[in-house]
Amino acid sequence: MVSNYGIFAIETKNYQGWILGNEFDEYWTQVIFKRKEKLHNPIKQNYGHIQALREALSDYTDVNYISIVAFTTKADLKVKTNTDVVYTVNLPKTIRKYSNETISDSNKEQIYEKLLSLNIDSKENRKAHVEAIHNNLEDRHKKVDADTCPKCGGKLVLRNGKYGQFKGCSNYPKCRFIAK
Ligand SMILES: [Zn+2]
Repeated sequence: MVSNYGIFAIETKNYQGWILGNEFDEYWTQVIFKRKEKLHNPIKQNYGHIQALREALSDYTDVNYISIVAFTTKADLKVKTNTDVVYTVNLPKTIRKYSNETISDSNKEQIYEKLLSLNIDSKENRKAHVEAIHNNLEDRHKKVDADTCPKCGGKLVLRNGKYGQFKGCSNYPKCRFIAK
Protein backbone atom coordinates (compact mmCIF):
# COMPACT_ATOMS: atom_id res chain seq x y z
CA MET A 1 0.00 0.00 0.00
CA VAL A 2 1.55 3.25 -1.17
CA SER A 3 0.60 6.27 0.93
CA ASN A 4 1.88 9.69 1.98
CA TYR A 5 2.95 8.08 5.25
CA GLY A 6 5.20 5.46 3.71
CA ILE A 7 4.89 2.19 1.87
CA PHE A 8 3.07 -0.46 3.85
CA ALA A 9 4.07 -4.06 3.18
CA ILE A 10 1.27 -6.16 4.62
CA GLU A 11 1.70 -9.92 4.89
CA THR A 12 -1.60 -11.65 5.60
CA LYS A 13 -1.84 -15.10 7.11
CA ASN A 14 -4.77 -17.43 7.44
CA TYR A 15 -3.68 -19.81 10.21
CA GLN A 16 -5.74 -21.43 12.90
CA GLY A 17 -4.77 -22.16 16.48
CA TRP A 18 -2.14 -20.65 18.74
CA ILE A 19 0.64 -18.82 16.99
CA LEU A 20 3.84 -18.43 18.98
CA GLY A 21 7.01 -16.64 17.95
CA ASN A 22 9.48 -13.81 18.39
CA GLU A 23 10.84 -11.07 16.15
CA PHE A 24 14.04 -12.83 15.15
CA ASP A 25 13.11 -16.54 15.26
CA GLU A 26 13.66 -18.44 12.02
CA TYR A 27 10.40 -20.31 12.57
CA TRP A 28 7.22 -19.70 14.48
CA THR A 29 5.04 -22.38 15.96
CA GLN A 30 1.41 -23.15 15.31
CA VAL A 31 -0.31 -25.25 17.96
CA ILE A 32 -3.47 -26.86 16.70
CA PHE A 33 -5.30 -29.95 18.00
CA LYS A 34 -2.39 -30.45 20.43
CA ARG A 35 -0.02 -30.70 17.48
CA LYS A 36 2.89 -28.38 16.81
CA GLU A 37 3.65 -27.22 13.30
CA LYS A 38 6.41 -24.96 12.09
CA LEU A 39 5.85 -21.92 9.93
CA HIS A 40 8.40 -19.50 8.54
CA ASN A 41 8.62 -16.32 10.59
CA PRO A 42 6.33 -14.00 8.58
CA ILE A 43 8.29 -10.94 9.74
CA LYS A 44 11.38 -12.33 8.01
CA GLN A 45 9.29 -13.24 4.98
CA ASN A 46 7.96 -9.70 4.79
CA TYR A 47 11.47 -8.32 5.20
CA GLY A 48 12.29 -10.12 1.95
CA HIS A 49 9.33 -8.43 0.28
CA ILE A 50 10.49 -5.04 1.48
CA GLN A 51 14.02 -5.72 0.19
CA ALA A 52 12.50 -6.46 -3.23
CA LEU A 53 10.56 -3.18 -3.06
CA ARG A 54 13.71 -1.29 -2.05
CA GLU A 55 15.48 -2.64 -5.12
CA ALA A 56 12.60 -1.84 -7.45
CA LEU A 57 12.27 1.65 -5.98
CA SER A 58 15.98 2.41 -5.58
CA ASP A 59 15.43 5.88 -7.10
CA TYR A 60 13.44 6.83 -4.01
CA THR A 61 16.08 6.59 -1.32
CA ASP A 62 14.28 8.29 1.56
CA VAL A 63 11.07 6.29 1.36
CA ASN A 64 10.10 4.55 4.60
CA TYR A 65 8.80 1.00 4.53
CA ILE A 66 6.43 -0.22 7.18
CA SER A 67 6.10 -3.95 7.78
CA ILE A 68 2.81 -5.29 9.13
CA VAL A 69 1.83 -8.93 9.57
CA ALA A 70 -1.91 -9.57 9.81
CA PHE A 71 -3.58 -12.78 10.94
CA THR A 72 -7.27 -13.49 10.67
CA THR A 73 -9.11 -14.00 13.95
CA LYS A 74 -8.96 -17.76 13.33
CA ALA A 75 -5.55 -17.45 14.96
CA ASP A 76 -4.85 -16.88 18.62
CA LEU A 77 -1.75 -14.69 18.60
CA LYS A 78 0.85 -15.28 21.29
CA VAL A 79 3.79 -13.47 19.75
CA LYS A 80 6.39 -11.07 21.11
CA THR A 81 7.50 -8.70 18.38
CA ASN A 82 8.50 -5.11 17.70
CA THR A 83 6.99 -5.29 14.24
CA ASP A 84 3.22 -4.98 14.27
CA VAL A 85 1.65 -8.44 14.20
CA VAL A 86 -2.08 -7.80 14.36
CA TYR A 87 -5.48 -9.22 13.51
CA THR A 88 -6.79 -8.21 10.10
CA VAL A 89 -9.75 -6.48 11.78
CA ASN A 90 -7.24 -4.13 13.44
CA LEU A 91 -5.38 -3.28 10.24
CA PRO A 92 -7.05 0.14 9.73
CA LYS A 93 -6.21 1.15 13.30
CA THR A 94 -2.61 -0.04 12.88
CA ILE A 95 -2.16 1.84 9.62
CA ARG A 96 -3.63 5.03 11.09
CA LYS A 97 -0.88 5.07 13.75
CA TYR A 98 1.43 6.42 11.07
CA SER A 99 0.63 10.09 10.66
CA ASN A 100 3.95 11.60 9.54
CA GLU A 101 3.84 12.58 5.89
CA THR A 102 7.08 11.35 4.33
CA ILE A 103 6.11 10.92 0.68
CA SER A 104 4.92 13.79 -1.51
CA ASP A 105 1.82 13.43 -3.67
CA SER A 106 3.88 13.42 -6.86
CA ASN A 107 6.33 10.79 -5.55
CA LYS A 108 3.44 8.71 -4.35
CA GLU A 109 1.94 8.72 -7.86
CA GLN A 110 5.33 7.90 -9.43
CA ILE A 111 5.93 5.01 -7.06
CA TYR A 112 2.44 3.70 -7.70
CA GLU A 113 2.97 3.84 -11.47
CA LYS A 114 6.35 2.16 -11.12
CA LEU A 115 4.93 -0.73 -9.11
CA LEU A 116 2.06 -1.06 -11.55
CA SER A 117 4.48 -1.33 -14.47
CA LEU A 118 6.48 -4.03 -12.67
CA ASN A 119 3.31 -5.99 -12.14
CA ILE A 120 2.46 -6.02 -15.86
CA ASP A 121 6.08 -6.75 -16.69
CA SER A 122 5.97 -9.90 -14.63
CA LYS A 123 3.13 -11.55 -16.58
CA GLU A 124 5.68 -13.82 -18.28
CA ASN A 125 7.48 -14.34 -14.99
CA ARG A 126 4.21 -15.28 -13.38
CA LYS A 127 3.68 -17.97 -16.02
CA ALA A 128 7.19 -19.34 -15.46
CA HIS A 129 6.63 -19.27 -11.72
CA VAL A 130 3.36 -21.21 -11.97
CA GLU A 131 5.01 -23.74 -14.29
CA ALA A 132 7.87 -24.24 -11.84
CA ILE A 133 5.36 -24.97 -9.06
CA HIS A 134 3.56 -27.49 -11.25
CA ASN A 135 6.83 -29.26 -12.11
CA ASN A 136 7.63 -29.36 -8.43
CA LEU A 137 4.26 -30.93 -7.62
CA GLU A 138 4.65 -33.46 -10.41
CA ASP A 139 8.08 -34.40 -9.10
CA ARG A 140 6.60 -34.79 -5.64
CA HIS A 141 3.83 -37.09 -6.89
CA LYS A 142 6.32 -39.25 -8.76
CA LYS A 143 8.39 -39.68 -5.62
CA VAL A 144 5.37 -40.54 -3.50
CA ASP A 145 4.27 -43.11 -6.09
CA ALA A 146 7.73 -44.67 -5.81
CA ASP A 147 7.41 -44.70 -1.99
CA THR A 148 10.17 -42.13 -1.57
CA CYS A 149 9.72 -39.24 0.83
CA PRO A 150 9.91 -35.98 -1.19
CA LYS A 151 10.97 -34.13 1.93
CA CYS A 152 13.94 -36.16 3.17
CA GLY A 153 14.44 -38.98 0.64
CA GLY A 154 13.49 -41.62 3.20
CA LYS A 155 11.21 -44.56 2.53
CA LEU A 156 7.44 -44.11 2.74
CA VAL A 157 5.59 -46.76 4.70
CA LEU A 158 1.95 -47.50 5.45
CA ARG A 159 0.91 -46.62 8.97
CA ASN A 160 -2.25 -47.05 10.94
CA GLY A 161 -3.67 -43.82 12.29
CA LYS A 162 -6.71 -42.80 14.22
CA TYR A 163 -8.60 -42.25 10.98
CA GLY A 164 -7.32 -45.24 9.02
CA GLN A 165 -4.25 -46.09 7.03
CA PHE A 166 -1.95 -43.49 5.61
CA LYS A 167 1.41 -43.32 3.88
CA GLY A 168 4.03 -41.62 6.01
CA CYS A 169 7.78 -41.22 6.17
CA SER A 170 9.74 -43.99 7.90
CA ASN A 171 11.93 -41.31 9.44
CA TYR A 172 9.09 -40.12 11.65
CA PRO A 173 9.26 -38.23 14.03
CA LYS A 174 12.35 -36.61 12.51
CA CYS A 175 10.45 -36.16 9.26
CA ARG A 176 6.70 -35.66 9.46
CA PHE A 177 5.85 -36.04 5.79
CA ILE A 178 2.44 -37.58 5.09
CA ALA A 179 1.26 -38.39 1.56
CA LYS A 180 -2.15 -36.81 0.94
ZN1 LIG B 1 10.81 -38.03 5.18
